[in-house]
Amino acid sequence: MHETKSCLIVGAGMAGLTAASALSQNGWHVTLLDKGRNVGGRMATRQIGVSRFDHGAQFFTVRDSRFQNAVDQWEARGWVKPWFTESGHIRYCGVEGMAGIAKALAKPLHCRTATRVERIEPVDNCWRLFTEAGEELSANTLLLTPPAPQSLALLSACIDRLPSGIVSEMRSVAFDPCFALLTTLAGPSRVPPPGLVRPDTGPIALIADNTVKGISAGPAALTIHARADFTRSFFEADPQQVAQLLLEAAEPWLGSPVLTSQIHRWKYSQPLAVCGEPCLYTLEPAPLAFAGDAFGGPRIEGAFLSGMAAAERITATALR
Ligand SMILES: Cc1cc2nc3c(=O)[nH]c(=O)nc-3n(C[C@H](O)[C@H](O)[C@H](O)COP(=O)(O)OP(=O)(O)OC[C@H]3O[C@@H](n4cnc5c(N)ncnc54)[C@H](O)[C@@H]3O)c2cc1C
Repeated sequence: MHETKSCLIVGAGMAGLTAASALSQNGWHVTLLDKGRNVGGRMATRQIGVSRFDHGAQFFTVRDSRFQNAVDQWEARGWVKPWFTESGHIRYCGVEGMAGIAKALAKPLHCRTATRVERIEPVDNCWRLFTEAGEELSANTLLLTPPAPQSLALLSACIDRLPSGIVSEMRSVAFDPCFALLTTLAGPSRVPPPGLVRPDTGPIALIADNTVKGISAGPAALTIHARADFTRSFFEADPQQVAQLLLEAAEPWLGSPVLTSQIHRWKYSQPLAVCGEPCLYTLEPAPLAFAGDAFGGPRIEGAFLSGMAAAERITATALR
């Protein structure tokens, strides 16, 4: 038997970490599981030699006072810093990269990385979860935070036991894909301060110089994000060809010879539309919540607010 207030959370991105913190503070026994080698999900940072790259989200903005309170605390603890201000909004980034924020949030939590969940099934008003390694875990409540298609796939064996409204809401969530090209140069780039350009035309949405941004040592370390339509057209193409096309388009901002390039494919980058509710919740067939940026808003702040909403919903139901 497990404790009454036990929750399994799949996904240690911003939504899962936020919900786990809130539930733990409310006395819940929480286990967070993530298939990634590190926590953070789409707040991802990669080290290549001396260079460090943010290869998912580059920064975040703050509009909601609850998120502002959290960000103020993170800034006071030295986890985040303002990068630059645009259109009246501060763009914050992680002092040690975006994943550094997630790492700091995960520290007090029971979080298991490199643990891919393969399938989940309801048993006697509880949830049983099976990992790729053949492990079995169970809890009263389940919170799923991966992008909607991945969450639904985990529940495929019991999908007909979920309320049809929730299933159709989840099925309506679609994401843009995004190529991220990580390139090291032999010297400085031509990306001007504060280290970010967004070309008006062509296949590139954004070029960030992680060295100018202040998270990488050594020569220029560029993150080049492709536009969604370009990524969609070339998603199955040879990665070398994609890298070549993006480097050709980036030429005006390179400024030094290219040393290395790695391509990363984000299949689910940002949601195309956001659900009307900050999270989804059902007691059928057992207590289950869905959270993430597809609910709270298509960015880090939205994932935070959705994680908070899910934790509030789970706690409120348990109190009844
Ligand atoms: C290229 C790119 C650029 C972006 N730019 C910005 C930006 O500038 N500003 C901004 O605010 N936002 C930006 N975003 C969006 C932002 O990163 C997301 O909104 C936010 O990080 C989503 O958090 P989440 O917790 O909802 O989901 P995720 O971060 O995706 O977390 C879900 C987690 O679930 C895990 N998972 C999935 N399936 C399984 C499984 N079977 N078993 C175990 N674990 C599993 C994943 O590994 C992942 O860690 C960008 C995203 C990308 C990809």
